[in-house]
Amino acid sequence: MTERTWAGTHTFAAEAVLEPSTIVEAQELVAGHRRIRSLGTRHSFNDLADTDGVLLALTAIEPAIEIDEAARTVTVGAGTRYAVVARHLADRGWALHNMGSLPHISVGGATATSTHGSGDRNGSLATAVRALEFIAPDGSLRRVAAGDPDFAGSVVHLGALGPVTRITLAIEPTYRVRQDTYVGLAWDDLFERFDELTASGYSVSVFTRWNTPDVGEVWVKERLDESSAPEMAPTVLGARRVSEKADSPAADGLDNTTEQGGVPGEWCERLPHFRIDATPSNGDEIQTEYWVAREVAVEAIAAVRAIADRVEPALLVSELRTVAADELWLSPGYGRDSVCIHFTWKNRPDAVATAIGHVERALAPFDPRPHWGKVFAMPVGESLPRLHAFRDLVARMDPDRKFWGPYLGRVLGI
Ligand SMILES: Cc1cc2nc3c(=O)[nH]c(=O)nc-3n(C[C@H](O)[C@H](O)[C@H](O)COP(=O)(O)OP(=O)(O)OC[C@H]3O[C@@H](n4cnc5c(N)ncnc54)[C@H](O)[C@@H]3O)c2cc1C
Repeated sequence: MTERTWAGTHTFAAEAVLEPSTIVEAQELVAGHRRIRSLGTRHSFNDLADTDGVLLALTAIEPAIEIDEAARTVTVGAGTRYAVVARHLADRGWALHNMGSLPHISVGGATATSTHGSGDRNGSLATAVRALEFIAPDGSLRRVAAGDPDFAGSVVHLGALGPVTRITLAIEPTYRVRQDTYVGLAWDDLFERFDELTASGYSVSVFTRWNTPDVGEVWVKERLDESSAPEMAPTVLGARRVSEKADSPAADGLDNTTEQGGVPGEWCERLPHFRIDATPSNGDEIQTEYWVAREVAVEAIAAVRAIADRVEPALLVSELRTVAADELWLSPGYGRDSVCIHFTWKNRPDAVATAIGHVERALAPFDPRPHWGKVFAMPVGESLPRLHAFRDLVARMDPDRKFWGPYLGRVLGI
């Protein structure tokens, strides 16, 4: 098989990709196969989804989006892209609390890996989940909802608990957002006033190449509702607001970003960095990301800055974002408010492997937790306190290891 991840960074070893068009068909495929793992829109960069059996993509099943206004939830097919559910919600006066940098990914895949956007008070996208419907190894459907004993262990699951057919997410009334770019932030200001920096908007992203005299760009996305200031400050920590649109962070000259320059727009047209009608990021790239606890973030960022010359040869751009703590067992944000240190690398695997080695050594003292869907080399070990409990949950839900894959064995010891 020659099927690959979106960026071409991994060629799947699986025998085939099966694409049922109904949930019933998916249930029959699960019951009839010895080994089967789910595949979303393939935006992970490693072998996370892979299997020695077959892959099951639920992306062709109808989204069948159902809004429950009283419960303030939306239920959607797990293979649905965020862009589709976000448009549906916005058209009806509803919103999600946040989005990742790209709206192209599936809700099921993003949930499985704890995909995140930014914001001191915004949990990862998985924290919006209120219920999931799984296909069990025998093909039957089972539902896990908030309040159930297995819920916190089941939301971020890396595909190890079986295919998710439908997901219920919390929603809120729609809101507008403006997005402003600031340039000229001094490194000393970032280090000394980091909390002030990340609190300067609803969602703040800092882009840097580490070795430049000033930090780089700060993108501030601010909600335009009662709780926020209607006007953005002309400066943030001395960095000045620019009216022109910033270059695409990882791809100079590519026009693929959402509207900036402070022009107000719907939440779903501003919270993602990239537009749905364009290739996100660079396309020809590898990504890596580590979550560290907020308390050690400034030291961790300084440690990476200290090895800028070793990171630079493989780097397109880095991004710093914040995520609020959660209680989801396999979330890298489990139990700690986090700062995510991200690297978009050139598509040069050898140079990237070398750079990742340097970064992981620099970050080791800060108990980093890797993004599950991006490329990393460090052992995850016991840095996640509920890993043992998750292994027990998998043993209970999938005793014959139908949903096992080599990544789960190598990384989680499952
Ligand atoms: C350009 C680009 C930008 C990105 N930006 C961000 C970002 O801003 N923030 C961030 O955190 N990450 C980001 N990522 C990473 C990406 O969000 C994650 O890797 C995410 O998991 C991708 O979702 P997917 O649908 O492509 O899942 P896949 O990569 O296809 O699968 C990921 C995992 O989910 C499981 N899975 C998928 N669907 C299901 C299902 N229906 N049921 C059960 N398990 C399922 C798979 O088995 C696998 O374990 C980015 C990736 C790219 C390529």
